[in-house]
Amino acid sequence: MTEHYLKAIILDRSSWGNQDVLLTLYTKELGKIRASSKSMRKITSKLSGQLPIGSLATVRLVDNGYLRLVDALKEEQFDLTDDTIKHLYFLDEVIPFNQPDRDLWYTIYEILRSGVITPRIYGHLLGLMGFIPQEGQLICQGCRANKVVYFDPRDIMFLCTNCSERGISDIEKYIKISD
Ligand SMILES: [Zn+2]
Repeated sequence: MTEHYLKAIILDRSSWGNQDVLLTLYTKELGKIRASSKSMRKITSKLSGQLPIGSLATVRLVDNGYLRLVDALKEEQFDLTDDTIKHLYFLDEVIPFNQPDRDLWYTIYEILRSGVITPRIYGHLLGLMGFIPQEGQLICQGCRANKVVYFDPRDIMFLCTNCSERGISDIEKYIKISD
């Protein structure tokens, strides 16, 4: 049994079973991870208030083959604007599990703190994460036009404006990565 004591950005939380909560955390040391917490949904749970989406918390995790959160202390709450909420959704979809990357962690922390999340910043992050090739031009995966404007984080697809408007999923889920 190992114990971890880490700073984590809370990307997502969802209910799991009757009482448990499943958290998606982004940490410097372990990368993106999932951890469960027992009884967090009880109204009286002290832990629950320490772990809202879009906050930075110090967490204590016990590793028994799966990660269980046993304690947490909220350190910072990022402003939850529409832009920040969309950014958390993007990170939750795109960051790979269990691949720590300190530079990327600090970059994301600074972006969330500033609350300034422009199409250029999304383009930059996708480059850092290796989704955008260093050489050659990005092309729309719908029509092969070379004017890519949107990124679909669920399908990892780059799209032009026309194809994004024709998309099967709603445009709210697309990320604008260029003007
Ligand atoms: Zn297209």
